[in-house]
Amino acid sequence: MKKLYLWIGILALLFVFIAVMWGQRIEFVLGGAMINIGYRLQDHLPEYDLEHHESTPPQIWQRFLDQNHMAASVRSTFPRTSRHPVMAMVACMDGRLDTNEIAGDTRRYYYVLRLAGSVLSEKEEEMLELAVGNGVKVVVFTTHTDCAAEKTAADPEKSKLFPKLTAAVGEREARFNEFLARPMIKERVDKGELMVKWMDLDTMTEKVAPHK
Ligand SMILES: [Zn+2]
Repeated sequence: MKKLYLWIGILALLFVFIAVMWGQRIEFVLGGAMINIGYRLQDHLPEYDLEHHESTPPQIWQRFLDQNHMAASVRSTFPRTSRHPVMAMVACMDGRLDTNEIAGDTRRYYYVLRLAGSVLSEKEEEMLELAVGNGVKVVVFTTHTDCAAEKTAADPEKSKLFPKLTAAVGEREARFNEFLARPMIKERVDKGELMVKWMDLDTMTEKVAPHK
């Protein structure tokens, strides 16, 4: 009889565990769906667009301030949780890339480095190492299709106008390898405590695939 109660207890606990886990999963997916409803509501409103090309600089600036203040007042009413990131993402500064969408997550689990052409310099390498020291276990380095920095570097005329950017794109891979070779980074990767991935992003869908 005692054994039966024990089994009933274990089953009940298991049931509660599954219900809680599935409840959280459902809540997470539902949240994502609602965020997407929000995107759909705003996405097609060109006259309210910050990039609206007929706006003057003061109009664009004022719109930014208005929207910031509105968003901040919502945030003060509904504060969000501070989280300690376990992942760092490097992405180009291209406006079409949305790191929340790339991660499929708005919960601030990510450090994000937005860089022209995703080119690291020594200060960013140090910043990433600092993040790893603070608990980051995965660094995802991304490059993307239709990158303006890459296109500029490949264009004989434009590359002359933007020599620093062109040079930076040329040294991108060397910089990535330089980061991998940093003693602390190398040690953690070798021990299996850290993963560093280079992924290619499809700019339109934001789907990642291993870098070719
Ligand atoms: Zn780019």
